[in-house]
Amino acid sequence: MCGIVGIVSKKYNILPSLIDGLKNLEYRGYDSAGVAYFINNNLKIIKEKGTVKNLENKIDFKEKVNIGIAHTRWATHGNANKINAHPHNVNHITIVHNGIIENCNELKKDLKDYNYTFKSNTDTEIACAYLSYCYDQNKNIHMTIERFMDKVKGSYAIALLIDNDNKNIYLLKKESPLIIGLGKDTNYIASDITAILNYTNKYISLDDFQYAKVNYKDILVYNKSGDVLKKKI
Ligand code: GLU
Repeated sequence: MCGIVGIVSKKYNILPSLIDGLKNLEYRGYDSAGVAYFINNNLKIIKEKGTVKNLENKIDFKEKVNIGIAHTRWATHGNANKINAHPHNVNHITIVHNGIIENCNELKKDLKDYNYTFKSNTDTEIACAYLSYCYDQNKNIHMTIERFMDKVKGSYAIALLIDNDNKNIYLLKKESPLIIGLGKDTNYIASDITAILNYTNKYISLDDFQYAKVNYKDILVYNKSGDVLKKKI
């Protein structure tokens, strides 16, 4: 289990802070790193084996980006390589994940019956495909997450982007830490406060079976049934 960082801002210059956040999580150890962000409504995913520096060298910091998620991976399912590195994308859904999906083999078998194919050897891509499968049925992220939480066993801190929704980062949490940092016209997500301490020390911790929708103005935290919760900062 390694690290997650995400930023959504009114301003279009988040890429340096996203990489800075990953660097602040390097002490935890990792084998690969990646980012996903929207640029002009198009999703872009960049990932590399090895250090955050390798990833940084592949990024065009001139791009004007105001929403993105990033990850350092500690492989549990599948070798440490570029294909297995996060983010993973299946159809409209892109995720980074810390944790272990215990029933991934069973889920993979079911998803193959629905003609899903897999590029990586990770449990994370299976989780992503399952989210995509649920989302394609109802196009409702709340119902998708509730169904995911009912079905999926194991631990997960997940940050999720949906195509055609370039204002929000969605978060899902069970048995793996995930926090939301509050900034000015900018909100942050992280697996660990050290990732974002350069920007804020105000944060909300998600509890197990909670999920959230985060944009630059608002943070909405829900329980599994979709009720909005009042969280302590
Ligand atoms: N189980 C996932 C994988 O092997 C996530 C590992 C992590 O927490 O970095 O890709």
